[in-house]
Amino acid sequence: MFGVIVCPHCTLVLGADLEMARVTCPRCGGKVNVRKAKVYFRTDSGKELAEAVRQVGERLVYDIESPAAPDVARLPAKAPLRGEETALWTQAQKMIEEVEEFSREELRAALGGVDEDQLDRILFNLLEDGIIYEATAGRYRPA
Ligand SMILES: [Zn+2]
Repeated sequence: MFGVIVCPHCTLVLGADLEMARVTCPRCGGKVNVRKAKVYFRTDSGKELAEAVRQVGERLVYDIESPAAPDVARLPAKAPLRGEETALWTQAQKMIEEVEEFSREELRAALGGVDEDQLDRILFNLLEDGIIYEATAGRYRPA
């Protein structure tokens, strides 16, 4: 019986003969205890084993590269507003009191000379503080 296991030293996905007590990892040379290893796939066929090694390898890479909530992970952590932005912040709140709905572009126009970074930070802080919410994609409303 063969099985697909992962080297605990370097995370290389390996095909191994499960009858053996231990195998040597071809990448890092570390000893892998086959009896204790988590077996991702079992088969009697050497051909199937090679395919399973490839598939388990792909799945593990996929899991690492695709965290559960990529959109949330991409957002910056709440950034404190800088000195020159407190005026913009006040201005943004004033504008929000006067409109029912606005887009990022409309907020930019209301704030005047604001750069992308500042605009993102103000928008993010407004959302984070629950002052506004995203009603539909790209449209914001006072909460
Ligand atoms: Zn290894």
